[in-house]
Amino acid sequence: MLSNKRPHALITGASRGIGAAAAEAFARSGYSVTILYKSSTERADDLVVKLLQEGCDAIAVQADIRDYYAVRAAVHKANLQFGAVDVLVSNAGIASQKLFTDVTPDEFREMMDTHVTGLYNIVEAVLPGMISRKTGSIVTVSSIWGITGASCEVAYSTAKAAVIGFTKALAKEVGPSNIRVNCVAPGVVDTDMNRGLTAEDMNMLCEETPLERIGTPEEIAETILFLASGKASFITGQVISPNGGLVI
Ligand code: NAD
Repeated sequence: MLSNKRPHALITGASRGIGAAAAEAFARSGYSVTILYKSSTERADDLVVKLLQEGCDAIAVQADIRDYYAVRAAVHKANLQFGAVDVLVSNAGIASQKLFTDVTPDEFREMMDTHVTGLYNIVEAVLPGMISRKTGSIVTVSSIWGITGASCEVAYSTAKAAVIGFTKALAKEVGPSNIRVNCVAPGVVDTDMNRGLTAEDMNMLCEETPLERIGTPEEIAETILFLASGKASFITGQVISPNGGLVI
């Protein structure tokens, strides 16, 4: 591998929302970026083209994060293109709002498979390379609801709390290998995930937030970039919550 190689960041769920903003932030900061996406090939390809036109390095690789072998194959492809992964951002996620008593077993399982098994799958595929090189940084994406719990989001809150537990435990285990593991737990952010919320819900959330607004994907991306970078070299096992003061 050439010594002037750019560091390689792999970001899951990166064709839109927070993941896409993170892909742009990392690419513009000099990383080669692997955009891992589930199904939006056109959006992922458009993002790659945009970044390449700016002189950045990026590829798009398809995999459903719930599929162990698909994730392994995707990481293999990414490694062939950009070398071993230096930074992993585990961002892919789904949300749903309904009463606990209306959540079906399949819906509960899908939530756990996406957030928890998906996190296992991607970390399991990337971590051995980091351990053998004794360097690396992992940023997981949880949510304020993983810290506080949210009514009508028991499954989501459970999955996001698990992401925090995973982050803290792994940080303890791989710290001696010089690998940092941190978590970003955003408040409410303006992405497709919240399109189902009514204008009334949104206004209420803004009113409850000291900064009186919801966040942008770019603001979350900057927090992720900071935690992944050398600027956060003594930070590991931490949960940072960019949330406008909604939870203090
Ligand atoms: P989004 O719906 O725009 O993006 C989610 C991304 O995850 C999409 O690209 C989607 O395709 C991908 N994804 C979902 N299931 C997948 C799977 N099985 N395999 C691969 N990719 C999959 O939403 P977002 O707001 O950008 O969400 C990004 C992360 O931020 C999620 O983990 C979400 O839970 C978290 N989060 C979002 C908010 C918010 O208010 N938007 C707040 C806190 C945390």
